[in-house]
Amino acid sequence: MEKQKVIMVMLDTLMDKALQLALKEETLPALEYFMDHADYYPDVVTPFPAMSVNVEATLLTGEYCDKHHLPALSWYSKQDNRIINYGTHIMELLKMGLSRSVYDVIYRLNNEHLNSDVKTIHEEIHERGKESASINPLVHRGASLNTLTMPPLMRFFLSVDKTVEVRSPSKFVYGSLNKLSPLKKYSHLWNKCGFNNDFSVQEFSHLVKNNEIPAFSFVYLPDHDKNVHKHGPMEIKGIKKMDQQIQTILDSFPTWGDALENNIWILIGDNGQSRITSDRQHASVDLRKVLNPLKITKLRKGVQKDDQIVLGINLRSCYIYSLNIDEVPLTDIVEKLKVDSRIEMIAWKKADWIHVTSGGNEGSLQFKENGNMKDVYNQTWDLAGDYSILDLKVDGNNIEFGEFPDALKRIHSSLYSHKGDFVVTTVKPEHEFIGESTPTHVGGASHGGLHKNDTLIPMIVTGTSTSPDYLRVVDLKDWILSLTNFKV
Ligand SMILES: [Zn+2]
Repeated sequence: MEKQKVIMVMLDTLMDKALQLALKEETLPALEYFMDHADYYPDVVTPFPAMSVNVEATLLTGEYCDKHHLPALSWYSKQDNRIINYGTHIMELLKMGLSRSVYDVIYRLNNEHLNSDVKTIHEEIHERGKESASINPLVHRGASLNTLTMPPLMRFFLSVDKTVEVRSPSKFVYGSLNKLSPLKKYSHLWNKCGFNNDFSVQEFSHLVKNNEIPAFSFVYLPDHDKNVHKHGPMEIKGIKKMDQQIQTILDSFPTWGDALENNIWILIGDNGQSRITSDRQHASVDLRKVLNPLKITKLRKGVQKDDQIVLGINLRSCYIYSLNIDEVPLTDIVEKLKVDSRIEMIAWKKADWIHVTSGGNEGSLQFKENGNMKDVYNQTWDLAGDYSILDLKVDGNNIEFGEFPDALKRIHSSLYSHKGDFVVTTVKPEHEFIGESTPTHVGGASHGGLHKNDTLIPMIVTGTSTSPDYLRVVDLKDWILSLTNFKV
């Protein structure tokens, strides 16, 4: 059938348990309507570290970060000898007053850092002569050139050009910097320049009302993340709010029936979150203390001559870089991390093997690609040591995962995502990493870890009886392309 168009709505931090609770306790007409007509997948595996840019890039390219090269929100570029921090939001960057960080997120992320050797869904659809839409995700590389216009207030505070040219799909919304509808609501500085649910809904509804829905639309609703960070994983008021916003989208069609009849819908989360204990001392693993006395690069100063290590903190995970491997071998960093029993996983490369251990643990696990053991995703590995470190269930040559879904490939991809000598580490549920100026969510929730709490996201699908090869974000691209009948 030719009629199908794919509309994917990413509902930030939608999680299965909270959704089930919300469906029971609240009136959610839109989500109930979808659930009545949908196939529901509660446990789709998101990439590691579970941070927005990595999730979006994995979804759009169908590759993990070893191939798409966006390792996380915060990482250290060896080539530029500086920390890249896309910020959890453009507003935070504004507060920091960093013109360079603004360029990192609005320009370099899509135009330089995202590997040009991999293709996004938008680029593939363009090659097949069709159009696609990107409404508010940070990762949006496509085949058209679009001009972002910097808000005057931003230009007042920062030295940024008035306009910046970026590659995107032809139908492109990036807050108020590039919009489709003539409406002015929800787009001011105090509305985060349009990076909010109501603005995303308004802009997509504009396409619907004008009969301009393209072959594939990626509509991102960012707001719920902060509700869960603040109030914990079972927060449902934000889900009720999202339901109202989805109702507005459905109402822009002649009828809700028409909306579902003529389109394939994918409603999906982006990452889970783990509850953070309310005991501040216990909750926060302060890397400045754990790594003492090593000299850590300060954010504002940047890398200095006598610095020894750099931190790329991503909430519940962290990349830790040695600036001089002869002076500070990775094993020195590992030994320090191992002392803290709140640390869940520590991984690093040594020759072509990956080594993994954890806090308070003397054992270790080693693995590398292409061995004679096979995991549930048909990926093959050589494996040795203590399997319990990654909660692997090994039966003969078969590997199944427990607490850490797709652990081997996801750790492997993070360690091969960018250049440098570094360790990647995560904390157990209830905890998060802190450094010089990291947000904390004591008594709330956080993400970025390898644990299934951070990893499993729900997906609601209508209009097709097919499903991806595996229930992982990395497997969605091929499936979405096949749904739009573009794949040969
Ligand atoms: Zn978040």
